[in-house]
Amino acid sequence: MSDTSRFHRVRPPAKSRIVGPARLPDGATTTAYQAVQPHVCGQCGAAITPDALFSRRTMRRPRASAIGLTQLPVCIACRPLQVEGDVGGMDGTGSSGEEEHHDG
Ligand SMILES: [Zn+2]
Repeated sequence: MSDTSRFHRVRPPAKSRIVGPARLPDGATTTAYQAVQPHVCGQCGAAITPDALFSRRTMRRPRASAIGLTQLPVCIACRPLQVEGDVGGMDGTGSSGEEEHHDG
């Protein structure tokens, strides 16, 4: 037992950071992200530049090899975001159970 460094998990630098809850034009809520590194919109292919806001969309992979679901960034041109302030915006109706996971 001399070197444990290869077992030490180094977190990769974040490619995006969570801004907070946001509302979509159709009234649905989602999570707004801010790009730290460039992304590509999974819907229109446009570049999402650093500091730009975007949302993520859970999509089913064509071939469900291992996990089956993946999340693609979607630019605000495809899905305009209205970022909500973090001050008491509770409706009381609760969420529809659509939970988004973020994996870095
Ligand atoms: Zn797009």
